[in-house]
Amino acid sequence: MHIRSLTRFAVRVAAILPLAAVLTAVPPASAQEGLKIYISADMEGVVGTVTGDQLGPDGFEYERARRWMTEEVNAAIRGARASGATEILVSDSHGNGQNLLLDDLPADITVIRSWPRPLGMMAGIDDTFDGAIFIGYHTSTDNSRGVRAHTMSSARLTSVKLNGVPVPETGLNAAIAGHFGVPVIMLSGDDAIAEEATDLLGELETAVVKKAYGFHSAETMMPEAAYQLIEETAARAVARIADFEPWDLGGPIELEVSFKNYRPVEALGYLEIVERIDSHSIRYSGPDMIAVENFLTFLLEYDSNAAP
Ligand SMILES: [Zn+2]
Repeated sequence: MHIRSLTRFAVRVAAILPLAAVLTAVPPASAQEGLKIYISADMEGVVGTVTGDQLGPDGFEYERARRWMTEEVNAAIRGARASGATEILVSDSHGNGQNLLLDDLPADITVIRSWPRPLGMMAGIDDTFDGAIFIGYHTSTDNSRGVRAHTMSSARLTSVKLNGVPVPETGLNAAIAGHFGVPVIMLSGDDAIAEEATDLLGELETAVVKKAYGFHSAETMMPEAAYQLIEETAARAVARIADFEPWDLGGPIELEVSFKNYRPVEALGYLEIVERIDSHSIRYSGPDMIAVENFLTFLLEYDSNAAP
């Protein structure tokens, strides 16, 4: 059991029970209670998704894919609860940020929706969480194998690096969690992101729900089988939550971003805090991961014509 959780559990129990009852209510060392889990849910790594036909509101299979995504999150919640999670926050972190079917999720969780928002795909995380789970995640833009391989924006960015190392969204988001001392304990997606995440973060629990055949193709499990796998994997990850280390990069952190086009690089080059590396790339050094994430959010959100 995590120290923080143990303390919180003890305080809560002490508040409602007389001392004698507290002594008998303390669980054995192996049992876990009162864990707080953060779930960040994307869609490209969800079972069955391979193209825009599933990934956006204009796709003919989008409504079905929303259900798959929602049920994968439900499976992770069931698994986490089986191993002692009692508080769960989910961030809807794909596309318009409004993919999850709220009517089909449990009443005692909360969901973060839409953009822009502070800390992006990790909005709402802080040091009170015991672990983070990434559902439906995908490979980085530098990965030549994964389904829908991209980092933050397939239309605009060709590479994102932290301290010189190419990172998938998994890396950016693990570093945000790490800043708060929260470890990433599990990820689901295709086999390529499972490998990329493990290489980057070390041994975390992975649920591989499809095998990448390329950017546009995969051999996928059936939804029911994927839900079962995710539930079992989440239960296992939370059961051994004390084994995982936060991916804390400390600071300062150097961010390098490469763009498809010239114009954003030229515009960013006017800022004193930005260094132009070449025609398509810039470098920014932030004091910590929060500053780096805030810079990235600005970089992807700013549009002088934006309305409202
Ligand atoms: Zn996505």
